[in-house]
Order: sequence, then structure tokens, then C-alpha cells
Amino acid sequence: MPYNVVNKAIVCPMCGELSRAEIYTSVNDTKDKSLRSKVLSGELFSWSCPSCKYSARLNYPILYNDMKNRFMVYLIPKIDRYQLCDKELEEKYSNLRNISKRITPDFNSFKEKIFIFESGLDDMAVELTKLAISQTVSKKLGDEPIAEGYLSMYDRETNTMGFTFFMGEELKPYVQTARLEIYSKSKNITDRFAIKDKKLKGFIKIDREWAENILYRYKRAKHIEKLNKLKE
Ligand SMILES: [Zn+2]
Repeated sequence: MPYNVVNKAIVCPMCGELSRAEIYTSVNDTKDKSLRSKVLSGELFSWSCPSCKYSARLNYPILYNDMKNRFMVYLIPKIDRYQLCDKELEEKYSNLRNISKRITPDFNSFKEKIFIFESGLDDMAVELTKLAISQTVSKKLGDEPIAEGYLSMYDRETNTMGFTFFMGEELKPYVQTARLEIYSKSKNITDRFAIKDKKLKGFIKIDREWAENILYRYKRAKHIEKLNKLKE
């Protein structure tokens, strides 16, 4: 099956009319390409009341599978856990090895994960790169806080990556490109400091908080190395 659908009752928040909607709980990209674009455009989540035509985006958990690019992304709105071990899911896909499994709490990071893995990139290294670039951007703009940021461009030929950051309370977009060298350096750091995370079972959340933790471990190790050199 390229997808799983459940039929759910929905009460319209506008007119109060009760209707039913088809909710996709999982989507398999390799089997149905048209579903992929409906997921990314958000069309799959849009709902409109048959009575008053009020339309809204439905927020519900959905599992996105892409076996060709070997990743699974589980969008679970507002999830604040770092790791999710779903026994049923683990058993169902126990024959699949070396699959990157991620959980994301919102639609934007869900889309970003799909973009990262489809581009053949390592999302841990991307997250660390994004953190480094965001600090540069924040400094450049007079310490303006960054609310969110996403990988929005990747070009292997010109050797560049682009991130779109949303600044301050107004969420003003700001695009910053970066050379792939920063990504390579980030990849080396995650290969060294995220060994444990790479071995974790189940779905894990790789986000800014995670990257901050890795960066902290990296800086601490560098500091210790420096102290040891001084002792020699
Ligand atoms: Zn309605």
C-alpha cells in the first residue's frame, strides 16, 4: 500500500457542522509520486467544510517513508520527546537496515527533513552547519534573535548551500548561503561526537537543540585537548 488512510469525524470550528475527513496516517513515496507533491504542498492536510466551505489545515501525525533514499520522517505535531520507539513500527520494518528515522514537531521541519534526505545530505551535519551559520547571521544583524531556520537550497555544482532564517518576533526572512566546506567540517564533528546518536533505535529528533549539544561537546573536547598539550 502506498498509503494508510483513516476516516475521522470533524466538527467544523466555524459552523459546527459534523462531517468526515480522510486522514493520511502514512505515505510511501516510492510507490506513489503524486502523494509526495501533495505532502510537500500541504494539499494532503487541507480540509474544507462541506457545509460552509471554511477551510483549514489539519494537524495530525503522519509517517513519511522513502525507501529509495532510505529515510522515514514522522511528523507528530508538537512532540517534545527526543526519541520515539514504536514497537509496532520497529517490528514492521525490522528487516530494513541503515534507515534514517526522524521525528519532527511541525510541518516546516518535516518538509526540511524530506528535502535534506532527498538531496543525499546528512541531516545531523546540516543542523550543525545551520547552527554555525545562524550565529554568524545573528551577529551580522546586531544580535537579532533567530526564531527559525531551514535549509532552502542545495547546489552540488556551485558547491553552495542556502539557509532561510526567520528573524525576531516578526519572523522576517533572511537568506544566507554557505560554502560546502562548513558542511564537511560539520560532518567530521558529527562523525566524532554523535556516534551514540547514530546507533539509537527508533525515531529521533535532530534539531537546533541537538546541534547545540553536539557543539558543546566538541568545544569541551577541544578545550581538554588544549589543556593536555599545555601539560606536555
Ligand atoms: Zn462549516
